[in-house]
Amino acid sequence: MRPLFSELIWLIGGAAWFAIRFPHQHRARKVAVARSVGGRRDQVLLGFSLTGLCIIPLLYLIVREPRFADYPPAPWQGWVGLLFMLGALFLFYETHRQLGRNWSVTLDTRTTHKLVASGVYSQVRHPMYSAFWLLAFAQAFLVPNWVAGLSGIVGWGILFFLRVDREEELMVETFGDEYRAYMRRTARVLPWVY
Ligand code: SAH
Repeated sequence: MRPLFSELIWLIGGAAWFAIRFPHQHRARKVAVARSVGGRRDQVLLGFSLTGLCIIPLLYLIVREPRFADYPPAPWQGWVGLLFMLGALFLFYETHRQLGRNWSVTLDTRTTHKLVASGVYSQVRHPMYSAFWLLAFAQAFLVPNWVAGLSGIVGWGILFFLRVDREEELMVETFGDEYRAYMRRTARVLPWVY
């Protein structure tokens, strides 16, 4: 696959990603918050993720820097990236649908919060984060530049690893033994592995 074509897949996939999220973000503003524990720290972490997954690769597509980090992509690379992107979009769509009004950008609980543990949530307890990992890997395959390709894994990885424990604490504080039992029967993001 030609680099320009694979970069176009990244761009269209990214636009679809925002389109999937938009109605949920709009609705989420109207759902009452019970507790919010993310604070400034979570905003900074979100900034890292946005920078790595969106700002750096977008700037790269526009200004073509840093040029020293360009490399000739393997012919199969774009196709693998496309598969990752399709998987990411499907999972991102499904998790928003299944989490519904319990979803929030940062670490909040709702006054009407319910634990979702069925559907994709019966396999892993952070499937939306699995979708973000797929997106970050899609970027790595689709953008043939060591910096702009891998920045997503770094930026997203920072948010994920510095957030996930706090989120699980919040869920335990909210749902108690129900969440502890749920944790025992699920992996975090990759079934049977992690
Ligand atoms: N980590 C989850 C959800 C991301 S949205 C995933 O990857 O799919 C973040 C918010 O979802 C958190 O603030 C938390 O309040 C809520 N949340 C996380 N897991 C949940 C679950 N199993 N059921 C209901 N709400 C959940």
